[in-house]
Amino acid sequence: MADVVVLGSANMDLVATTDRLPGRGETIAGHTFRQVPGGKGANQAIAAARSGGTVRFAGAVGDDDLGRQILAALGAAGVDTTAVVRADAPTGTAHITVAAGGDNTIVVVPGANGTLTELLPAHAAVIAGADTLLLQLELPLSVVRAAAAHARACGVRTVLTPAPARPLPDELLAAVDLLVPNEHEATIIAGVDDPHQAAAVLARRCDVLMTLGERGAVYATAGAEPVTVPAFPVTAVDTTAAGDTFVGVLASALAAGTAMPDAMRRASAAAALSVQRPGASDSAPTAAQVDAFLG
Ligand code: ATP
Repeated sequence: MADVVVLGSANMDLVATTDRLPGRGETIAGHTFRQVPGGKGANQAIAAARSGGTVRFAGAVGDDDLGRQILAALGAAGVDTTAVVRADAPTGTAHITVAAGGDNTIVVVPGANGTLTELLPAHAAVIAGADTLLLQLELPLSVVRAAAAHARACGVRTVLTPAPARPLPDELLAAVDLLVPNEHEATIIAGVDDPHQAAAVLARRCDVLMTLGERGAVYATAGAEPVTVPAFPVTAVDTTAAGDTFVGVLASALAAGTAMPDAMRRASAAAALSVQRPGASDSAPTAAQVDAFLG
């Protein structure tokens, strides 16, 4: 049994830093290289586990060194990886170039993640035993839809981070309990230009928690006034995966029975801690660090 099950992507981020982005057909020298476990699914699982949740990751990696490194990183954060599939494809990779000043290019090769086109019996079994299922849109949409429908049939709460943004089929939204888009994602899914209007439109379908970066987050439900929780004022050095940290910590708090406004406050505190450190999944704070920050 796990309180939180994450069905999602696991990638190895391969990050090179340069003075500038190369032009078409050009080869340039880089400065540094590092490998960081990533993918929205793995990031959310690590954040949820570090914040004290009992977390299981359901996904796929290749039978290769990068896959073993990702499993080790998940395990070190306290995530149960026994439901992870070893696919007949290489581990997913994200090839990232970051230029001075922050401009970047990213090429994602889904690899093993892309083999999950249907809900596997092993993944269905762990979802059935969960309190909360976390989904994102980095796996094939067919498996995301099947997982949400299965969770609904089992009475498991489903939280969907709709990234990368794309219009969503009605039956997926109907099976989701809580949608957590950022402003850009909310406008694309609702087909409305104004983010707050988009959140109101989406809230007719399911509860919506729209993140607003350094302006915090707003919780919108049908028939009630939206509730805004401000972000904590901190000096951000790297906001990569702030949203994944927010969602992972929110899910572990909700699964522990924390009411929404308090869960949002805890998630905001964890995200505020993470943006003050460089890195992605590796910048998610522990429960004790969140407690100390909240005083
Ligand atoms: P990412 O794609 O980088 O993971 P996102 O776009 O999904 O991020 P954001 O809305 O940028 O998500 O941020 C999620 C939450 O993180 C916010 O609701 C807020 O609580 C916190 N946060 C983000 N940026 C800052 C910041 N500069 N200072 C304090 N808190 C922040």
